[in-house]
Parts: sequence; structure tokens; C-alpha cells
Amino acid sequence: MAVLINDTCINCGACIDECPVEAIVDEDDNPTGEEIYYVHSDKCVECVSHHDEPACATACPTEGCITWSEIGESPAHREDITSEQRSNKEPVVA
Ligand code: SF4
Ligand code: SF4
Repeated sequence: MAVLINDTCINCGACIDECPVEAIVDEDDNPTGEEIYYVHSDKCVECVSHHDEPACATACPTEGCITWSEIGESPAHREDITSEQRSNKEPVVA
């Protein structure tokens, strides 16, 4: 993963059009089958070269809904995020 949408997502749709690389899908296209929005980790670049911080998390109205996660196959990631922040799934917007 890169950033992760957790189960506090209320399916409001505020994040999806903010993503510069179309990494976010809605509940209908969530490959896990969960009824929440989903970030494709192999597309998410954590908004590196696009925005100062992840645009999805800035747009999300639900506190703590979008967190840091493992880098995995993400094509780009923020170098200043620690492995602890990722493994603890800390909110992108504190
Ligand atoms: S962090 Fe940026 S690239 Fe990743 S899903 Fe959110 S908006 Fe898209
Ligand atoms: S903006 Fe937040 S609550 Fe709304 S769909 Fe996206 S992740 Fe879910």
C-alpha cells in the first residue's frame, strides 16, 4: 500500500477526483469487496510531484480515514514518512 482508506470511509466521494493518478476507486470497484473507497497501491504516488501532501487526505472530511501504509509496489512515495508511521497506520492528516 501507499496510503490506505480505512473502514471509517463514508463513501462521500470527495477524494476520488482529487487524485492526480486515478488511483482511487469507489465501493463498486473495490477489489476487496468492502463497501468503501479503495486506493490502488500500485498506482498511488502519495502525490509526490503533484501536491505538497496527499490530496485525497486533504479533501477527506472523515478524521483519520486515510492513513499511511506500506509502500509495496507504489511507484513513488514520500521519503520523510517513517516506517513506524506506516506500520502504525498513522493518519495522513493528523
Ligand atoms: S495520495 Fe495522492 S496519489 Fe495517492 S491516492 Fe491519494 S490523491 Fe492519489
Ligand atoms: S473522501 Fe474520505 S470518506 Fe469520502 S470517499 Fe474518500 S476516503 Fe471515503
